[in-house]
Formats: sequence, structure tokens, C-alpha cells
Amino acid sequence: MNCAICSKTATAYNKLKQPVCSAHTKQTAKSPLCPDCGLAMSVRQGKWGAFWGCIAFPSCNGIRKI
Ligand SMILES: [Zn+2]
Ligand SMILES: [Zn+2]
Repeated sequence: MNCAICSKTATAYNKLKQPVCSAHTKQTAKSPLCPDCGLAMSVRQGKWGAFWGCIAFPSCNGIRKI
């Protein structure tokens, strides 16, 4: 699992439940907009680590790299 702000290994969660490294526990990653539908995105954990997933998932499959 990777930090939502940098790409280091996440060891904790911030107040928005985003995975973060020890240096970023007081920060929150700014949500980008979905490239497909323009809605906000939230941090999800996949097989290959954390990524931004559209909040409209599963009706929208928009993703972005963190
Ligand atoms: Zn970090
Ligand atoms: Zn979307």
C-alpha cells in the first residue's frame, strides 16, 4: 500500500482514511477529478497499490495514478 501523497510505503491513515506514510499523517491528498465523468475521486487499494478511483464506481470506471 502506498502513501496517497508521496509514493512511499503507507503505514497509517489520515482523517480521510487515505493511506499515508508516517510523514503525511496530518495531510490529506487533494482529490483529482475523474477523467471520464468529472466527479471527485477517492483513494482505493488495488492489487498494485493505491490509486484514485471514481466515486461513481462501479457505474464509472475512471481511475488515475496517485
Ligand atoms: Zn507520504
Ligand atoms: Zn467517473
